[in-house]
Amino acid sequence: MNLLSQFQQNKPLKDVSTFGIGGPARFFIEVSDVETMQKVLAYCHQNSLPFLVIGKGSNCLFDDRGFDGVAIVNKIAFCKIEETQIDVGAGYSFSLLGAQTARKGLAGLEFASGIPATVGGAVFMNAGANGQETSTSLIRVQYVDERGQLESLEKSQIEFSYRFSSFQKRRGAIVSAQFQLTPSTDARQKQLSIIDYRMRTQPYHDPSAGCVFRNPGMGVSAGALIEQSGLKGTLLGGAQVSDLHANFIVNRGNATASDVLLLAEKVRQEVKERSGIELEMEIRCIPYQM
Ligand SMILES: Cc1cc2nc3c(=O)[nH]c(=O)nc-3n(C[C@H](O)[C@H](O)[C@H](O)COP(=O)(O)OP(=O)(O)OC[C@H]3O[C@@H](n4cnc5c(N)ncnc54)[C@H](O)[C@@H]3O)c2cc1C
Repeated sequence: MNLLSQFQQNKPLKDVSTFGIGGPARFFIEVSDVETMQKVLAYCHQNSLPFLVIGKGSNCLFDDRGFDGVAIVNKIAFCKIEETQIDVGAGYSFSLLGAQTARKGLAGLEFASGIPATVGGAVFMNAGANGQETSTSLIRVQYVDERGQLESLEKSQIEFSYRFSSFQKRRGAIVSAQFQLTPSTDARQKQLSIIDYRMRTQPYHDPSAGCVFRNPGMGVSAGALIEQSGLKGTLLGGAQVSDLHANFIVNRGNATASDVLLLAEKVRQEVKERSGIELEMEIRCIPYQM
């Protein structure tokens, strides 16, 4: 089957990025089922086409020139909740999953509420907040490798740490995941207070990709280091260090990827000079060519 005819061409990646930044993808496709994901990845492999799997683009900074390959948006979005077990497509909204499970009195994913991610992106990044992270309640993942082969991986076969999963060292697509949650009478209240705190402390309605830098460890927060360096509100081109949360860079309307990168570098240098601590990017910068 020639998939090329099903690819859109020159689709602006800013349309699939919460930052609203990014030039055109040479080829673009939305995939809603596992079989098509297998075919698309096998096609890319056979034709030596670089590919990129995108969830909601909420942790990505796409290049101003775009992406010279196939951008695949994962829309595999089923969700089955049976008692305490969840079987969910990787394109399903992680935030919705957090709210739905908490409403059913299930604990483990309350923190997901308000994270504008897909389940696949959350597993890939081991997203976390409020002392919880994605890997804790995960039991298994289905993955399509770069040749299009489907595999099922138990959690013990995957490495996880702070904002890291071993999927970051592989090329392929997470297509579904299973979670084991626990019954709790507090889950809904906890989820509601998490979302309330998020709304008050993060620039939730401004275009961004969440926290720019990883927390450096030892209980130190990147946001506090940036704030102590007096950088809140710093503007460079169309990019600005948020006034509300110093570890967010927001797009003030016409920011380019270069604006964000230059501003992030300025922040990194000033924090290094003031505290001696070198911040590392959490946002994934997607190059034009892989
Ligand atoms: C307002 C806001 C608040 C946020 N709050 C938090 C927070 O509290 N905690 C937190 O951890 N993060 C937070 N983030 C960052 C972001 O939501 C997470 O990193 C999230 O896990 C990214 O999911 P995504 O589906 O958008 O992935 P994308 O941004 O689309 O992709 C991120 C990376 O994952 C890869 N990827 C995505 N889906 C797949 C897949 N199915 N298979 C293989 N690879 C894949 C991509 O190639 C890319 O390298 C926030 C972001 C915003 C904008």
